[in-house]
Amino acid sequence: MTGTVPTSPLRARAEIDLGALRGNVRALRARLAPGAALMAVVKSDAYGHGALPCARAALDAGAAWLGTATPHEALALRAAGVTAPILCWLWTPGDPWRAGIEAGLDMSVSGMWALREVTEAAREAGRPARIQLKADTGLGRNGCQPADWPELVAAARAAEVAGTVRVTGLWSHFACADEPGHSSIDAQLDLFHELVAYAEKAGIEPEVRHIANSAAALTLPDSHFDLVRTGIALYGISPGPELGTSRELGLRPVMTLAASVALVKRVPEGHGVSYGHRYHTPAETTLGLIPLGYADGIPRHASGRGPVLVGGAVRRVAGRVAMDQFVVDLGAGGAGGDAEVVQEGAPAVLFGPGDDGEPTAADWAEAADTITYEIVTRIGARVPRVYVNGPDDRREAGAGR
Ligand SMILES: *Cc1c(COP(=O)(O)O)cnc(C)c1O
Repeated sequence: MTGTVPTSPLRARAEIDLGALRGNVRALRARLAPGAALMAVVKSDAYGHGALPCARAALDAGAAWLGTATPHEALALRAAGVTAPILCWLWTPGDPWRAGIEAGLDMSVSGMWALREVTEAAREAGRPARIQLKADTGLGRNGCQPADWPELVAAARAAEVAGTVRVTGLWSHFACADEPGHSSIDAQLDLFHELVAYAEKAGIEPEVRHIANSAAALTLPDSHFDLVRTGIALYGISPGPELGTSRELGLRPVMTLAASVALVKRVPEGHGVSYGHRYHTPAETTLGLIPLGYADGIPRHASGRGPVLVGGAVRRVAGRVAMDQFVVDLGAGGAGGDAEVVQEGAPAVLFGPGDDGEPTAADWAEAADTITYEIVTRIGARVPRVYVNGPDDRREAGAGR
C-alpha cells in the first residue's frame, strides 16, 4: 500500500446498504439446520464492501463468527476492537502466528509445516494456540490430504496434550456446491464425516465442525454441522446462476455502484469511440462519459457489453473500457430512444439491487464472462464506500436484531 487513495463520492461511489446486509444475515440464519451458527466471511475487505462495517453489521444481526483468508485481515479486525471469534485460513510460512495467538484468533492448519510454526509460537507466547484442522475432502486446493490426515491429527493431538494448542475446529470446503447435484458434493460430505470421526476417535473434541459455504448453506442442510461460512450470500448475491437470483433466494444486494456523468457531447455519425475505435456511432448521437475504468475494477472484458442505467434507460459500454473512464452512447440502446435528456452530473448506475431498473452484479458478471464474486471484490480503492443504514442511520423499516 502506498497510503490512502484520494477519492470523491461525486465522481463515483459504492453505496453499501448495511440494512440489507443485516437482513441477509437474518434470512440466512433462518435457513440454517438446528444447532448451526453463521460465520460471516469478510475476507478481501468483505468482498469489496468494507471489512469492518460489514463485520459489525453481521455480528449485530446474529452472526456468531467471522472468517478471513489472511491473518492480517483478522488482526486488523481485532485491532479495530472486534472481539467475536475469528477464523483465518490462509497462512504462509513466516506469518504472524504469535500475534494471532495473542489476539485469540482461530488459526487454520492444513499441514505439518503450519503445526510446527504454530506450536513454536505458542511456546514463545506461553499460551496455547486455537487451531482448526482443515481437510481436503476433494477440492484439491488448501487442506490436508486424507492420506496425511492421520499424521496431522496425531501431531495436533500430541500438541494438545503438551499444552501448546487447542484444536477448536475440524473443517473442509466444497468444490462444486454451486452446482446442485454434482457428484463431488456427496463424496466430499461422506469423506468429511469419516475424517471428523477419525479425529474425534483420536481424542480431539472440536467446538465446531464445518464445510458449508453460501451455496451449501442455501441448498444442503445436511452440510450445516455446527457452522456455515457464508460470504457472497451475505452481500445479497446468489452464489451462481444455477441457484437462482438474489430475489428468488430472499437476498438483497448490498452494493450499488454509481457514478456521475462527467461529459455529454454531440458527435456525428461514424465517430470512433475510445481506444482502438471498437465502436463507431451508427448515426449522429450523444455520448456520455462515465468516470470509472478498469483501475476501479470495471472489467475491460466488458468492453462493448457492460450495462449501465443512465437517463432512464440501460445502455451498453460503447467501445473499450479505459483505465479511468468509459463511454456510453446515449442515443443508442435503451427503450426506443425517447429516454430523458442526460446532463453532466446525472447519475449512472452500473449495478445495484435492481429495484429501479438498474443492472445487477450478476448482469456484469455475465457481460464480462466471469462470476459475481470478481465483480464486487475488484471494485478499487479509488471508489469510496458510502455506508447507509448503519448503526446510527437505520432507515429501513423495522430495523433491529
Ligand atoms: C471464500 C470462502 C468461503 C465463503 O464462500 P462463499 O461462496 O462466498 O460463501 C467459505 N470458506 C472458505 C474457505 C472460503 O475461502
